[in-house]
Amino acid sequence: MHILLMGPPGAGKGTQAAELKERFNIPHISTGDMFRAAIKEGTELGKRAKAFMDEGKLVPDEVTIGIVAERLAKDDCKKGFLLDGFPRTVEQADALTGILDKLGLKLKAVLNISVPKEDLIERAVGRRICKKCGATYHTKFNPPKQEGICDACGGELYQRADDTAETMTNRLSVYEESTKPLIDYYKKAGVYTEIDGRQPIDKVTADLVATLQA
Ligand SMILES: [Zn+2]
Repeated sequence: MHILLMGPPGAGKGTQAAELKERFNIPHISTGDMFRAAIKEGTELGKRAKAFMDEGKLVPDEVTIGIVAERLAKDDCKKGFLLDGFPRTVEQADALTGILDKLGLKLKAVLNISVPKEDLIERAVGRRICKKCGATYHTKFNPPKQEGICDACGGELYQRADDTAETMTNRLSVYEESTKPLIDYYKKAGVYTEIDGRQPIDKVTADLVATLQA
């Protein structure tokens, strides 16, 4: 069960990844985790990545791809993985195809949790978080009993600085533009499926699972 999971920021990808990991007993591999692990293990590529990051520079593709190749070659990936955050470009997608070929693995599905931009903006703008316990609310979809106060602990609720319509619109436009070629790439490969991320969380999970078991 080798899966690629995609989805714009705020579409609930993290929640679904945790669900799929549990259900299929496969490792959830995110780019951030891969980098952290390679750096911690002190691998040659990990050291190179760290050098770039320490200088505040973007890690070049060859290093990123090398780290992915090393991670996917590990034993726990033989029966499956849930890859998240990679590839980001068609060049990286090509590299991933090459890595998998070498390992004798094949992508079962590329799942994209799709939510319209307007919905994601509405979700972000109404999000409120408790200063004390971190509980999250939404002014429209999940309001606290008393405005501005956490139901669980009585703490004060706040809005994250980047949860604004403007920031979200920018982020989502960048995401859409960079993702479109990837979607085309995987459509052509015949492994792409879009899941309606506007549905309740358990329905999204059910759709993901149904696609994987088809
Ligand atoms: Zn609270």
